[in-house]
Amino acid sequence: MSAEIISGTKMRQEILDELKKEVDEMKAKTGKVPGLVTILVGETPASVSYVTLKIKTAKSLGFHEIQDTQSVDITEEDLLALIEKYNTDPEIHGILIQLPLPKHIDDNKVLNAINPDKDVDGFHPVNVGRIMIGGDEAIFPPCTPAGIQEMIVRSGTETSGAEVVVVGRSNIVGKPIAIMMAQKGVGANSTVTIVHTRTKDLAGHCKRADILIVAAGVPDLVKPEWIKPGSTVIDVGVNRVGMNEKTGKAILKGDVDFEAAKEICGKITPVPGGVGPMTITMLMKNTVKSAWKHFGGK
Ligand code: NAP
Repeated sequence: MSAEIISGTKMRQEILDELKKEVDEMKAKTGKVPGLVTILVGETPASVSYVTLKIKTAKSLGFHEIQDTQSVDITEEDLLALIEKYNTDPEIHGILIQLPLPKHIDDNKVLNAINPDKDVDGFHPVNVGRIMIGGDEAIFPPCTPAGIQEMIVRSGTETSGAEVVVVGRSNIVGKPIAIMMAQKGVGANSTVTIVHTRTKDLAGHCKRADILIVAAGVPDLVKPEWIKPGSTVIDVGVNRVGMNEKTGKAILKGDVDFEAAKEICGKITPVPGGVGPMTITMLMKNTVKSAWKHFGGK
């Protein structure tokens, strides 16, 4: 029997509907709404398109949204001063810097200048540390791992005591999701293994996984025979493998051989339409959470 498809597109809409209700509730209770600023330096087409999508989503939820586009020539000093302005702006609860930044600006220096209590991307070292501590400390989980965990929970997959294998150890996906799944708490309590390019028996580890999370960036890396029957497979990979001549759009593929895998596992995320749509959604969720925190709680 073919696996249940965990649709990120469908889940995104469910979560956005819930967030919209929460924003209305916040407005009724405090007279205020979440405030989000998106800082874009220069106008590279890919960055403009990401930022536009974030702004469109924020506006659809009724956020106070500022798009702050700066010239590609802005100095590091001026950019740091701009961040400081938003750090102290009481109407702003989330600050986003669209990466990559121009070469003359140090990405880390800029990201580290954001007030950790407004760092809704969850990239500030303080928030990385909070994720490591877990529990109530973990206020801003990074958005892609948060989306992965939300998909696992909402799909009804049991995580407590489950064998989770994470393929990949990047700072933005592999490491944080591994830590999050190993924490005490709902949607976690798993036994986690991280595998990477130096792992001796990649297939053997994957075969043990009740939940297999793959974030390697290698098309079709995970073969169907590596998948445990009935398991949940979360494919984070987004790989451009060609161009659709009719539409002019890139053909995308995940890290898992989806067609073959879906005949073996119990649940699986597609690419596209799986983890991808969840990332911006979780950014919105973090911003709502931040606003509540700044208003003293629900
Ligand atoms: P990354 O920084 O390139 O890290 C890839 C990781 O996978 C590394 O730890 C690497 O191991 C491991 N890996 C690569 N090839 C492998 C192999 N053959 N066997 C075992 N491990 C292997 O990538 P990332 O930023 O985490 O992104 C991973 C994928 O997720 C990409 O396709 C990216 O586009 C996608 N992604 C999607 C979203 C989204 O949907 N919203 C967000 C972020 C990323 P080593 O450490 O040993 O090199």
